[in-house]
Amino acid sequence: MKSNFVKNLTNKQPTKDITEDDIKYKIPLITSKKNVEVKINNKVSFKKSTLPIIAGPNGVESRKLIFNVGKLLKKNKIHILRGHAYKPLTFPYRSKQYLETKDQGMDWLDEVKKYLNLLIVTEVTEIKYLQRICYTADILQIGSRNMQNLELLKEVAKTNMPIILKRHFGSSLRDMLGAAEHILLEGNNKLILCERGITAPHTHRSTSRFIIDIQAITALKEIVKYPIISDPSHASFWAPWVPGLTYASIAAGADGLIIETHPNPSKSAVDPLQPLNFKQFGSLIKKSNKLSKIFNKKII
Ligand code: PEP
Ligand code: MN
Repeated sequence: MKSNFVKNLTNKQPTKDITEDDIKYKIPLITSKKNVEVKINNKVSFKKSTLPIIAGPNGVESRKLIFNVGKLLKKNKIHILRGHAYKPLTFPYRSKQYLETKDQGMDWLDEVKKYLNLLIVTEVTEIKYLQRICYTADILQIGSRNMQNLELLKEVAKTNMPIILKRHFGSSLRDMLGAAEHILLEGNNKLILCERGITAPHTHRSTSRFIIDIQAITALKEIVKYPIISDPSHASFWAPWVPGLTYASIAAGADGLIIETHPNPSKSAVDPLQPLNFKQFGSLIKKSNKLSKIFNKKII
């Protein structure tokens, strides 16, 4: 009985790590050996020689905030502004200060995009918001919590827009690459993978919910030729650690970074311990410029 059962299985050696068989049969597209460049426009491309920074607040809280941050980016010659108008929260209670700004927030992003000539990254939480988001956004973000929301992934892939797929904090690289394969199978290869911290038995500080898996960057780069970016802000939840983890990510080979910044971090409606203030952001960009040169990459 038992031996028959095993004999009839197709997946005889299930594993949590990536095997040669996986590469051949389960994730052939995401592990294909061709170097992939993800071009956003004529100025900004995720490729071997560049290290684009995606920066902004957590949420599109107000028009004023988003313009403020937009101007900071221009000052630092950074082109990609992030901010979410639709936003899943771990707990269901939203402070009065933090209601999703939804379509109104998207209109503000649209204004700042046109006025300051910036590119926009924002999160897609539901298929029903996709049309409005696509009207303004240049890159669609799939958040950690939706990494394996496969219907959402497929619909987002079909837009043929560039996609950032964030790793779920409890996911193996194998599962992440499985999710990525779903996107590629739809014919969209404008894919960027993002390490954003995983759960671990302890994280050195009670405010730090995740731990950044720097090794994931190097491990992914061994088998994946799509851009791999790092998000030290969400990984650490703690602004003082963000610069160090940024530099570590650059050294590990990251092809881009997500950095949360806010003019007044303690007033941020969500995760106020996490964003860099404008001065800290400026200094992070300055040092990252120097460091990235060692690795033949240019911060943009
Ligand atoms: C974010 O980018 O604002 C975010 C919430 O990220 P994550 O999905 O990684 O938690
Ligand atoms: Mn956030």
